[in-house]
Amino acid sequence: MNVRIKIAVDPVKLNEAMKRFPRDRAMWIDGREVAGEGETIERRSPAHGVVVTRVPRGRANDARRAIASARKAFDAGRWPHETASNRARVLLKVADLIDRDRETLAILDTLESGKPIAQARSEIEGAADIWRYAASLARELSGESYANLGPDRLGLVLREPIGVVSIITPWNFPLLIVSQKLPFALAAGCACVVKPSEMTSASTLHLGLLLAEAGLPEGVCNIVTGYGPEVGAPMTTDPDVDMISFTGSTAVGRAAVAASAATLKKVSMELGGKNPQVIFPDADMDAALDAAAFGAYFNAGECCNAGSRILLHASIADEFLAGLAVRAGEAKVGDPLDPETRVGAIISADHLGKIETHVKSARESGAVVRTGGARLESNGLFMAPTIVENVDPSMAIAREEVFGPVVVALTFETVEEAIALANSTSYGLSASVWSRDVDTAIGVGRGVRAGTVWVNTFMDGTPELPFGGYHQSGVGRELGRNAVKDYTEEKTFHVHTGPRTSWWLPRGA
Ligand code: NDP
Repeated sequence: MNVRIKIAVDPVKLNEAMKRFPRDRAMWIDGREVAGEGETIERRSPAHGVVVTRVPRGRANDARRAIASARKAFDAGRWPHETASNRARVLLKVADLIDRDRETLAILDTLESGKPIAQARSEIEGAADIWRYAASLARELSGESYANLGPDRLGLVLREPIGVVSIITPWNFPLLIVSQKLPFALAAGCACVVKPSEMTSASTLHLGLLLAEAGLPEGVCNIVTGYGPEVGAPMTTDPDVDMISFTGSTAVGRAAVAASAATLKKVSMELGGKNPQVIFPDADMDAALDAAAFGAYFNAGECCNAGSRILLHASIADEFLAGLAVRAGEAKVGDPLDPETRVGAIISADHLGKIETHVKSARESGAVVRTGGARLESNGLFMAPTIVENVDPSMAIAREEVFGPVVVALTFETVEEAIALANSTSYGLSASVWSRDVDTAIGVGRGVRAGTVWVNTFMDGTPELPFGGYHQSGVGRELGRNAVKDYTEEKTFHVHTGPRTSWWLPRGA
């Protein structure tokens, strides 16, 4: 079934946008542009259908060259030994260059991913801010000392860069997600190999040029484009890689951890979520409605943090869902280049098909679609903001990540039921609680097993606060004051002063 709203895009805006960047891009290995073996991956804008970029289809050989370059830069180069002040200076320069090129970067992310330009602009601003935060942490990185072990013993715990880091990122927040990893790894003194999603590589490749312009030495950051099984997989198994920092689906994350086990790499995994927004009758309803719509439809729901499960106190369910349906109908779906657009295009035809299948299966299991439920008429890939109700917690749509503009509604009667429902999936990335009662808000927040709990807000973020998931939403945390430490090893120094007590029995005894 097609929802009969026709989406049109503006060809003039598109032409203007396309003039800002070259169609063809190269990989970035060992401080130079590398074309690969000739085969390219073409990326069409999911909103406009036109080819916007072509990137090399890198192969395992390219991944290996990039890893070798990073290894050399780490083992024999100056970056791991650079002063924190010099490393911070490079990171700050990168932030300034991101600011300088913000419009080009925002347009690249918009055209490749289909996200609204207004949102892309704020993501790029956010990315620059994270680079600045990482620069501040670079100068704060320190170990520990123990002067309390007795007069002849001194303990020091050094923080050293872990080595070569594989950074693998998804398509939904291209520049933002690489910026949650790379600046912290560089701040620690690591060397990196980055693989963006083959659908959204351009802003990461552009970042590579900015890193060089900022003075990052050759080989310290390499960027390889291509498909996961060809380029990503060797980055998880190569013995010269010390750590993997991955964001993506739980299934691929699990495979990456398994692949890395043979060489026992450190892993940091940011994976999926099925995040509850728990709403009580005493909440500020306007604010909760606004946040529920934002949580469900921001980035067209293609967001690990999407508030894709609305848990409503039974007494307010009907009224709340009626209000949410109004907002779903008002959310402007359309041309991602239009600054008024709130919901852009879906990443690919395949993915749009999967979203529709999720909704269809839910209907077949007895769920009811209150609004939306199908793609919109267009030459591009657009899905109507959707609300699914009459949902049982055991249904797939209540447990699995849909990764589209689809929210399910469930109801509860008591605080205990609300907590149990919130915890009823295998994920644990984030949650929100809406109540003016401090006991309810804090009580539910503490009962929920999730890496982030928002109280009377949704999806607020700042680099100072750590981010990551419980359960199958991930391993480890990004951002926050420990973000640089995550890319270090601890080395214990045990120093003895003065004469040692002999291990041997005294001679002649
Ligand atoms: P995928 O897991 O499919 O891909 C993520 C990255 O892994 C891509 O670069 C992909 O390459 C690569 N990859 C694929 N196969 C392998 C492999 N065998 N070895 C190594 N790397 C591989 O995720 P999507 O790109 O589809 O992104 C959507 C998912 O990401 C959602 O499930 C979402 O929840 C999650 N996500 C989680 C976030 C978090 O912070 N928790 C944030 C954003 C997204 P290729 O693209 O070529 O397949």
